[in-house]
Amino acid sequence: MQEMQPNHKKSLTFWLFFLVIFGLMNFMIYNRFVKQQVTEVGYNVFMKMIDDKKVKEASITSSQIIFMDDQGNTYKTGLVEDSDLYERLYKSDATFGAEIVEPMNPLLYYGIMFGVQILLIFILWRFMTKRITKKMGDDPDMMSFSLGGRGKNTGRIYVKSKNDVRFKDVAGEEEAKELLSEIVNYLHEPQKYTEIGATLPKGALLVGPPGTGKTMLAKAVAGEADVPFFSISGSEFVQMFVGMGAAKVRDLFKQAKEKAPCIIFIDEIDAIGKKRDTSLTSNDEREQTLNQLLSEMDGFEENLGVVILAATNRPESLDPALLRPGRFDRRIPVELPDLKGRIDILRVHAKKIRISENVDFETIAKTASGASGAQLANIINEAALKAVREGRKVVQQDDLMESVEVVIAGYQKKNKILTNKEKLVVSYHEVGHALVAAKQSNSAPVTKITIIPRTSGALGYTMQVDEDERNLMSRSEILNKIATLSGGRAAEELIFSEITTGASNDIEQATKLARSMVTRFGMTEDFDMVAMEVVTNQYLGGDTSLACAPETQTKIDRMVVDIVKEQHQKAAQILKDNMQKLHEIAKHLYENETITGEEFMAILNSEENTLVSGTEV
Ligand code: ADP
Repeated sequence: MQEMQPNHKKSLTFWLFFLVIFGLMNFMIYNRFVKQQVTEVGYNVFMKMIDDKKVKEASITSSQIIFMDDQGNTYKTGLVEDSDLYERLYKSDATFGAEIVEPMNPLLYYGIMFGVQILLIFILWRFMTKRITKKMGDDPDMMSFSLGGRGKNTGRIYVKSKNDVRFKDVAGEEEAKELLSEIVNYLHEPQKYTEIGATLPKGALLVGPPGTGKTMLAKAVAGEADVPFFSISGSEFVQMFVGMGAAKVRDLFKQAKEKAPCIIFIDEIDAIGKKRDTSLTSNDEREQTLNQLLSEMDGFEENLGVVILAATNRPESLDPALLRPGRFDRRIPVELPDLKGRIDILRVHAKKIRISENVDFETIAKTASGASGAQLANIINEAALKAVREGRKVVQQDDLMESVEVVIAGYQKKNKILTNKEKLVVSYHEVGHALVAAKQSNSAPVTKITIIPRTSGALGYTMQVDEDERNLMSRSEILNKIATLSGGRAAEELIFSEITTGASNDIEQATKLARSMVTRFGMTEDFDMVAMEVVTNQYLGGDTSLACAPETQTKIDRMVVDIVKEQHQKAAQILKDNMQKLHEIAKHLYENETITGEEFMAILNSEENTLVSGTEV
């Protein structure tokens, strides 16, 4: 049996309080309105009371007389032919004619009160259960489960429902699904494995960038295998007091063993599974929790039917003890989707909305290169929202294309007013990028240039979409990319003889590429195939740390500057050679705010060139 959870205790106190309040209310109303009873008396008594001047107030209706004595008691009597009744009443100083409200029949009173109270309790109950479901997360199929005797009610058990996640709901990620389907098979027919003497891994680690569907895959394993699914986030184990996290781990495993076969899913395991070290910042609570997790994983026998899945986007920071055989020895990469994966994910999510039949998912998937599954799901949803905003019933290609831009660059900033000069600078800057890109044979064609500010802070941008999915980049392609990135600044220099802060993002990207060429890709003669940097954070932005002598660092910096400088000069030369086109396209962009790839190419390839001075406006 489960011990009483704090939530239950709270709601019990609430109901008790509620009952006491209602009881008190009833008692007071009863005393005030109902207890005061009506005594039926004969007409002679009424007459006698008038004579004794005991009637204070009387109300004569067509069928009866209700009257009140000087003590506040109410009486009633039938109507009798009595011509001088009013006179006698007048003489006895009674107030008459005023209506005396006859107190309500207690039975009727209780009927109504009871009904109203039942209705109120029902409304309150509905309200409370709604709040509890909300608290348990978006998933209505999650049922709260108590984990950790002293801890809070944080663990959740995923209960099978009609709309549970299946492998078919997870688009792409075929390798991950294949590796996980073995676990599903095992949960279905463990005897097949035990007969031959095979033991299945106790745990599998899903590794990949955020939003690639790791949680979804874990849920799909539970859905396919038709077993309970315990889900908890690593950070929920880490508590303020030492020992509580460990207690939660113990409790989680205890409950899981009772429910076996089942799946435990620990999201963000790096929150507890970080390498234990001797540094000053070590965290006792986290280490104790990790130790408890390790010993629990060792503790349960193989083939018990408990499979532990964990997800992380920082595998390099995990403690090696977690990764040794017998624990999370199976590592399942869940990478960003490729072009086909992106198309599939868009299709899966498009099923949920009403979408026009001639939508070209391939173009959208190409434009959204590098997007994660979560971002693609967001793109579909943003498109649907846009269609509703514009009063349409069906999502169209344009909605999707615009929402790709929303996800990449943020919403259009309608109220951000650029001065004419700024608008002109941004136009030349963006066309500078596009022109350099188009004039270099290996660069991807331009698909869109816009100078409408976005909420991400970009004042304009040039969108380039690769024709095919690329996995490798050659040295010359990287150099061309750096030249393209410097095209914006080069255009500003050429046209305005002045430079602006608008190139900061380009500078950052160009530097990163040039630095990687020197330190990681072995693309310079001096360093040959020696790595000067190591990536420390593969899935979260790709941060690097230097691994070389201080003198080498100085040399690296020099080489990076040289590479960028050379490409900057190359970009400036390309623009100088195409000055007329630069003016022409920038003017067009300045006037229209957005131009498509086709328009750009049409102007670029047109014969007659009308020279426009850029600084005139
Ligand atoms: P992670 O755990 O890797 O951060 P999630 O599993 O929580 O990512 O995915 C977030 C959301 O992104 C999901 O709810 C789903 O809508 C969408 N998503 C991600 N990957 C996929 C995929 N391969 N197929 C379909 N939807 C996906």
